Amino acid sequence: MKYDIVVVGGRIGGSTASIFASKNGADVLMLEKNQEIGTPVQCAEATSSRTFKTLEMKPSSKYVCSEIKGADIYAPDGTHGHLEGGYAEGFILERKLFDKHLAIEAAKSGADIMVKTIVKDVLRKEGKVCGVVAKHMGRTMEIEADIVIAADGIESRVAQMAGLNTSQTTNSLCSCAQYEMVGLNTDPNYLKFHFGEKIAPKGYAWIFPKGDNVANVGVGVRSNTETAYHFLKKFTTNMDATPVELNIGGVPVLGPVKKTYTDGLLVVGDAAGQVEPFTGGGIHIAAHCGRVAGEIAAEGIEKEKNTSNFLKKYEKRWKNEIGKDIKDSLKYRKILDKLTDEEINILAKFLKEQDLESISKMSMLGLVKEYPQFLKLLKDLL
Ligand SMILES: Cc1cc2nc3c(=O)[nH]c(=O)nc-3n(C[C@H](O)[C@H](O)[C@H](O)COP(=O)(O)OP(=O)(O)OC[C@H]3O[C@@H](n4cnc5c(N)ncnc54)[C@H](O)[C@@H]3O)c2cc1C
Repeated sequence: MKYDIVVVGGRIGGSTASIFASKNGADVLMLEKNQEIGTPVQCAEATSSRTFKTLEMKPSSKYVCSEIKGADIYAPDGTHGHLEGGYAEGFILERKLFDKHLAIEAAKSGADIMVKTIVKDVLRKEGKVCGVVAKHMGRTMEIEADIVIAADGIESRVAQMAGLNTSQTTNSLCSCAQYEMVGLNTDPNYLKFHFGEKIAPKGYAWIFPKGDNVANVGVGVRSNTETAYHFLKKFTTNMDATPVELNIGGVPVLGPVKKTYTDGLLVVGDAAGQVEPFTGGGIHIAAHCGRVAGEIAAEGIEKEKNTSNFLKKYEKRWKNEIGKDIKDSLKYRKILDKLTDEEINILAKFLKEQDLESISKMSMLGLVKEYPQFLKLLKDLL
């Protein structure tokens, strides 16, 4: 079997890459190890309109559960801030349906798809990746390709098989556990975030409403002592609601891997650590990088170029377009990681009194005068 491009992984990153590579004339095969695209879900399902802009799609009620107008943010002592509009606006998706919808779009664009097909190795010719070894229903097959796109998520092995260092550490990975719960009386248009060492160390707990008193309730933590599931059970103990689904998964939160291309291969999405480090949001970034990877790979096919020297265009482009957002988000993640609960409480009270749109250096200096420990934070921020 021979294709121009083989995409490994059939969710956001993989389907988006397949859509844009196919639309640009390449012959694409997308491989997904699970029997159904979109399941099991490992996501709280919140995203912004940026995702749809990237995909050149209008959000549809087929897979959007609720529209989000803002967010409520809680410090460990309960101090509560409210954000309306702007970055806090977006959608809660039904990812089982959304991911399937994207795969359908990929197929409509011309991509072939094989489910229940796991990639076991990469093929190489003179050191260059030239396809994959996959297993489908007990049958092992070699599939040749000029370019392989590894969109195989956090468990990614494909980029590592090609010699790239995409490994994550306990500190760079946020462990998440989430229930989809029924019977929760929460405002369907607002997200809730809870911070604090006892609630979710080096992460946060969330309540993301899906409408009809259904919500995703989860925690993301970086803890050496207790599991995310332990913190989830604690967080939901007094909630008068019933879980109908449990998701467990990891999110890379310390920034993208050093190199996202090599001869004959590109890495996309969680596999490349392309996630917003502060929020753990990866949907819009996997879509963005998936699109760039698909377009560059298709250009490579057209120009008969698939060496590192050509494919580095991918990294250059995604860094130019979204690298700064990821860097800024990492800065905030590192600041939050250093704050104690007490400091988060003080900061929350201070921010509550400010107009967040026009927060001034003078007011920050006022905070530092009263609490000198925030001087370091101010330096990191400016
Ligand atoms: C609990 C949790 C909550 C989250 N909440 C949010 C949120 O609210 N908003 C947000 O924006 N982001 C969220 N994220 C992050 C988001 O889910 C990911 O960033 C996003 O799904 C990344 O997409 P992807 O296509 O790169 O990888 P994935 O969605 O992980 O898809 C990878 C695919 O590759 C397949 N695969 C793996 N190995 C192979 C192989 N060898 N052969 C064939 N197929 C293979 C897998 O089966 C999978 O289908 C959350 C993550 C977790 C864990």
